[in-house]
Amino acid sequence: MTASPAPRRSVAATHAGPPSSRRPSVQTVAAVLARDGTCTFPGCRVPAFRCDLDHVVAPRPGDEQGHDAGNLVALCRHHRVVRARDGWRPALLADGTVRWTAPSGHTYVRPSAWRSA
Ligand SMILES: [Zn+2]
Repeated sequence: MTASPAPRRSVAATHAGPPSSRRPSVQTVAAVLARDGTCTFPGCRVPAFRCDLDHVVAPRPGDEQGHDAGNLVALCRHHRVVRARDGWRPALLADGTVRWTAPSGHTYVRPSAWRSA
C-alpha cells in the first residue's frame, strides 16, 4: 500500500489525542462490512458481520489512520488464527480487493463485495 499524500493531522495533534480511537468507529465498521461482505480469506463464506476486523498492517501507537477502513479487513476467527499462525499476508487495494500472499508465495485475489455482488 502506498501512503496517502497528505497527512490529515499534525504530529502534535496525534499525540495530544486521547486513546479513544483504538477501536474503529461504527461508521468504519459498517463500511468494512459492506465492502467485504464475507470473511476476506480466499474461498471463505463466513458473513462479515460474524467476523472480526483485522488490521492489514498493525498500526503503531498514535497512528489513527491505522484504524481506518483502508487498513481493516473482515476475517473470521478461524482465518485470523490461520493468518497469524501460517503467515498469510493481506494487501488491501484501493477498490476493496484483498490480495493474499500465501506462505508459499502464491497470491490469491479476493474481489470486494461491491464488485462481485
Ligand atoms: Zn474465514
